[in-house]
Amino acid sequence: MSTPENINCLIIGSGPAGFTAAIYAARADMKPVLYQGGQPGGQLMETTEVDNFPGYAEGVNGPQMMMDLEAQAKRFDTDVRSGWITKVDFSGDVKKVFVGDGDNPHEIHANTVIISTGASAKWLGLESEIRLRDIGGGVSACAVCDGFFYRGQDVVIVGAGDSACEEASYLAKLCRNVTMLVRRDEMRASKAMQNRVKSIENIKILYNTETVEVLGAEGVEGVRYRNNITNEEADLAVTGFFVAIGHTPNTAVFKDWIDLDEQGYIIQSKPGSSYTNVEGVFWSGDCADKVYRQAVTAAGSGCMAALDAERYLAAKGMH
Ligand code: NDP
Repeated sequence: MSTPENINCLIIGSGPAGFTAAIYAARADMKPVLYQGGQPGGQLMETTEVDNFPGYAEGVNGPQMMMDLEAQAKRFDTDVRSGWITKVDFSGDVKKVFVGDGDNPHEIHANTVIISTGASAKWLGLESEIRLRDIGGGVSACAVCDGFFYRGQDVVIVGAGDSACEEASYLAKLCRNVTMLVRRDEMRASKAMQNRVKSIENIKILYNTETVEVLGAEGVEGVRYRNNITNEEADLAVTGFFVAIGHTPNTAVFKDWIDLDEQGYIIQSKPGSSYTNVEGVFWSGDCADKVYRQAVTAAGSGCMAALDAERYLAAKGMH
């Protein structure tokens, strides 16, 4: 067993929340260590244009924004590392966090922990969908990552929120036809996004429509769908099947210590703060926010978490 590493502030996650927490913690001389987790840069790595983050007057693409945030955090000497947190023990004043699998994970003893682990894409859960996803056979939850492979082809996208509309618009630029499967008789997306997809010629919207099965053995060849009013089923020939139905918070590793709601979001234990139920452990970003879920609100809560952590350390005489 290697010797545990003692640190003042551990930040878990590398989206706008984690990097903003790092910028504030580093500038407060807390010498933060930030673990990037399974998807360095977080969900913004799957986005194209971000037009609503204050300060970028002309917009910025998501990956570029994450590179900027990382560079800013490193400018103040944040120790940015790759690695996956596999276990935590928040029973004592010192928070024990284990990085990596196997017999000899790296053990960190942190005085404060900021959880910024974000959320991950949801799937429908159909056997055919998961099988084809796992063999890389044309099922994707990221149009921006994978749309390129379907240039000139016909694709389906499931979902009716802002993400589904954004991804459908993106796909429509690359693909011949995009069919949106919407399970209710209306979309959840903002009116502006709805109007956008409705105005694009090669996007067709099927309401009251659910996916029965993704067709194809080695790769997507079509989709069988059902109208949930008439119960009629039909097949549509497509080569790509995109899913944009929301996200699940990445909080499973904390479940024995941190209070989570029924969907797995961290419960904000004190309104107007980043406190969790465990002293010295703070939340920031989408892992605890199912309401706003914006880059700018994630960044804002990253700032709150770093300030709360600093005040906690000061109150304990540790900073
Ligand atoms: P949402 O939770 O807003 O929407 C999920 C959509 O998926 C809903 O329409 C839902 O249908 C549908 N859905 C869920 N489960 C199923 C299922 N099993 N079968 C079929 N359809 C299903 O998630 P988003 O990812 O779209 O957005 C998350 C947040 O991010 C929102 O707050 C959104 O406003 C924001 N956002 C903003 C953007 C922007 O401003 N540019 C871009 C992207 C996201 P139903 O409506 O019937 O529940």
